[in-house]
Amino acid sequence: MCPSKFTLEREKLLKEKNKNQQRNHSFKSIICECGFEILLVPDLNEMVNAVAAHISEHHLKNNDPKKVELESERLWNLLIAQIFEKAAVESEPNE
Ligand SMILES: [Zn+2]
Repeated sequence: MCPSKFTLEREKLLKEKNKNQQRNHSFKSIICECGFEILLVPDLNEMVNAVAAHISEHHLKNNDPKKVELESERLWNLLIAQIFEKAAVESEPNE
């Protein structure tokens, strides 16, 4: 059986889709000031968990609760700002 036009079109679409995913992947992450990379995911809860988990790792290096609080706030702002920046780029028309 030879492939129908439908199958060929579908394969083309799938290839396009993969290409787009790969391209998006390259800038779909946020980077902490320490150099740690957090992958952007469409699920905001997961994103928040990933950021929280990473920030808690910073806390391990600091014993002063006051400093930990300030540092935590600073890092949240830094990382959340990047999430919104990336989200804004994503929603722009692809031209
Ligand atoms: Zn970090």
